[in-house]
Amino acid sequence: MAFEGLADRLQSTLQRIRGKGKVTEADVKEMMREVRLALLEADVNFRVVKDFIKKVTERAVGQEVLKSLTPGQQVVKVVHDELTTLLGGEQSKLAVGTKPPTVIMMVGLQGAGKTTTTGKLANHLRKKLNRQPLLVAADIYRPAAIQQLETLGKQLSLPVFSMGDQVSPVEIATKALEKAKAEHYDYVIIDTAGRLHIDEVLMEELQQVKEIANPHEILLVVDSMTGQDAVNVAESFNEKLGVTGVVLTKLDGDTRGGAALSIKAVTNLPIKFAGMGEKMDALEPFHPDRMSSRILG
Ligand code: GDP
Repeated sequence: MAFEGLADRLQSTLQRIRGKGKVTEADVKEMMREVRLALLEADVNFRVVKDFIKKVTERAVGQEVLKSLTPGQQVVKVVHDELTTLLGGEQSKLAVGTKPPTVIMMVGLQGAGKTTTTGKLANHLRKKLNRQPLLVAADIYRPAAIQQLETLGKQLSLPVFSMGDQVSPVEIATKALEKAKAEHYDYVIIDTAGRLHIDEVLMEELQQVKEIANPHEILLVVDSMTGQDAVNVAESFNEKLGVTGVVLTKLDGDTRGGAALSIKAVTNLPIKFAGMGEKMDALEPFHPDRMSSRILG
């Protein structure tokens, strides 16, 4: 389950202060030592932890909190608020083009869940928002990526545009956009190539696709189970490509939560969706507030 380990630790720490009728500065400091350890153990970036602890402590030992009628609860509320801010604050919605089609480019390393997420996102747009998406198979390098997307398309009864693996991604994207405009699709979702590691050739190709596709969103798909590596990947992609949002996959198996809690603070990129399983309906718009409540119980 998502964040189980972190949630357990934080909840038992906060439980102790919540019921207290009187809370001293020393109580807050002691609690924050435990929160700090819990976050570090969850693999949250250490600078992010340091900042978080500083902010919460400053607010929690403030007069209006400790002198309030329910200081324990107020302290917990401060932790909740700051955790929400850390996760991104307000929910960040998908951009929509002024006229259709809205173009979404999916990028990420191999194995992160990019092709699966492309299918899930198309499913979300059609089922939840009643929009018509065109899926575009432009990952011509990973064996079977095109076929994988075509299979997902069949399963979801959604059209997949492909030209095989002998045509350049730029040409595939160009032709797909022509088709989408002519046939009035609402969204075009381009599944681009990933590699095992970030390299120049990959980035150049993605830049070329970006140039011709002029996407409204460049969504980076990262595997939350990889912790701080996911944060580093996000920094690199953003630097080279200008990412507009992150999809965190495999949150269903991530008991720690280090990537989710660090990525916004380190990269300033919003988390737009979370992948919660392998099935096509296991994609959720990311709500920082709800996630924070889930972690703190
Ligand atoms: P790509 O190389 O980035 O296109 O990766 P794939 O889309 O092929 O996904 C790699 C593996 O991760 C597949 O086995 C997916 O079923 C799995 N996967 C993707 N997203 C999730 C998720 O949110 N939760 C879980 N548990 N598995 C996922």
